Amino acid sequence: MKENRKSKIRFAVMGGTFDPIHYGHLVTAVAVMDEYYLDKVIFMPSGNPPHKMSRATSDANHRYLMTVLATTTNPYFEVSKAEIDRAGITYTVDTIRELRNIYGENTEIYFITGADAILEIITWHNVEELFRMCFFVAATRPGFHGKDMEQKLNEIKSKYKKEIFKIEVPSLAISSTDIRGRIKNGKTIRYLLPEAIEDYIRKFNLYLE
Ligand code: ATP
Ligand code: MG
Repeated sequence: MKENRKSKIRFAVMGGTFDPIHYGHLVTAVAVMDEYYLDKVIFMPSGNPPHKMSRATSDANHRYLMTVLATTTNPYFEVSKAEIDRAGITYTVDTIRELRNIYGENTEIYFITGADAILEIITWHNVEELFRMCFFVAATRPGFHGKDMEQKLNEIKSKYKKEIFKIEVPSLAISSTDIRGRIKNGKTIRYLLPEAIEDYIRKFNLYLE
């Protein structure tokens, strides 16, 4: 049979500062891939995110390299430099538009966010276009049905006619903020993130200040 039509590509995008990347991110990514039968997950370390102006993030190159290191053991995980290489403030909507241009219309994109980020989603730049271009998956802790979140999801559903998928992951208590705090206070970060990332952090003396 002549191939005149490419089969659909389906992948997830996980945006984040990844400062540093940890098992919460990795467990979530693999859970979403598994749940929606996706071809791959693209990790997208942020450039200059509009929402994280309060804290200076580590050098983009460190964040990018740690993300690459943490994902090497999974052949279905990719890391993109698109946001890091883009000048100015980076908006998710530009990133997804760029991906749609690269992969074509016959593509299904799932954008992964933690439950915390989903609460802010309607404040994002051009959220309506974003909702048209991709599905959203919010990661929540098992047994955690935050009232705020349910309310927000219902709001989004009635206002934008857009359902946000939910997925339960078992490792939501891990956060980069907590990991940075532990390092600063001389506490162990073992088993919260891959060993290679721990070595990398030590080698470059990250998060001591
Ligand atoms: P920080 O504490 O600096 O905000 P973080 O741990 O939240 O860091 P980010 O890089 O901000 O990590 O997160 C990228 C994405 O991953 C966000 O959508 C965030 O909600 C989600 N996320 C972060 N930690 C977890 C986790 N443990 N489980 C599931 N999703 C997570
Ligand atoms: Mg965060």
